[in-house]
Amino acid sequence: MRLLLATNNRDKAAEIRAILSGLDVGLVLPADIALKVEVEEDADTFEGNAAKKACAFAAAAGMEALADDSGLAVEALGGRPGVFSARYAGPGCAYADNNRKLLAEMAALPPERREARMVCVAAVATPRGLLLTVRGECRGRIALAPRGTNGFGYDPVFVPEGQTRAFAEMAPHEKAAISHRGRALRALRAALVERGFSSRSAR
Ligand code: IMP
Repeated sequence: MRLLLATNNRDKAAEIRAILSGLDVGLVLPADIALKVEVEEDADTFEGNAAKKACAFAAAAGMEALADDSGLAVEALGGRPGVFSARYAGPGCAYADNNRKLLAEMAALPPERREARMVCVAAVATPRGLLLTVRGECRGRIALAPRGTNGFGYDPVFVPEGQTRAFAEMAPHEKAAISHRGRALRALRAALVERGFSSRSAR
């Protein structure tokens, strides 16, 4: 089976590829098939945006597609940046701009109010429509300043529960073992195997 990764984000694609290794599925990137699809992420839930992306890419390519919609939800900010995580500091902003904005907004908050969650919803669609969605979450807290250079997005400011290091200070396999994306994609992998996709590894 071939599965199109419905994303133009190389950072996400690399993580998804690593986590799904072992599943007997050939992952295809949009660039591999010269596919250009722009999806307006205007749903107000991660589930809605993931489904919209998966369906749009699957229909455009005529093959099954996997989408990831993900982001950071800070309790003290009422769940923001949430579905606006990618463009929190404005259209076309860099990851560092988002982190700066977030840290500035949270500067006055005491340590006990720095709780946050990373959320990932993965959706698979066929050209005919949505097949399934799964959700993974990782609880943690927002650091006082950026730390580390690995990963992407909010990784330098997110310290997972029970850890002293931010995601950006961890090796990719350490992050994947506890991350929102790791959790969602392991659930997705199990759901795909259950539906008859073979798995090369029994992990
Ligand atoms: P999406 O492309 O709309 O799903 O936006 C996802 C955004 O959420 C990214 O641009 C990052 O800012 C953030 N994000 C998602 N997953 C992660 C992660 O694993 N680490 C750090 N930031 C993430």
